[in-house]
Amino acid sequence: MTVRSGIGYDSHRLVPGRRLVLGGVELASEVGLAGHSDADVLSHAITDALLGAAGLGDIGEHFPDSDERYRDADSLGLLREAAAMVRAAGYEPVNVDATVVLERPKLGAARATMRERLAEAIGLAPDAVNVKATSGEGIGFVGRREGAAVIAIATLRRA
Ligand SMILES: [Zn+2]
Repeated sequence: MTVRSGIGYDSHRLVPGRRLVLGGVELASEVGLAGHSDADVLSHAITDALLGAAGLGDIGEHFPDSDERYRDADSLGLLREAAAMVRAAGYEPVNVDATVVLERPKLGAARATMRERLAEAIGLAPDAVNVKATSGEGIGFVGRREGAAVIAIATLRRA
């Protein structure tokens, strides 16, 4: 069995007046993620991990933020498109793991819903999509609540 892995990393600024959407789930927060799309940093990092594993470049190449079609775009939709590209290239997603680096709020019960929505977009079972969380411990851009970051890994097998 041919197995391939890819990593994805993304970060976005946290600003007032924006929604905080992670993995397709909106969290209650006085600050949200800035960006051209819905700025769902978790979906973006996973999209890059999938594209990377398939050797298909990166999210900015396929969904450029200069393109008006992607203004306020639902990033789960972009993830769904990336999963289709991966399959068209002859690979089947096996699993995804991600770590959200965010000072607050805690993901809490929303984490299970994120896993379900991400899994549905990729075409995996929820137990094949893991979402972890860690804080910035009060230091760096995450700790100062200036932004959030996500690192993700995806594994594919030859279909
Ligand atoms: Zn992004």
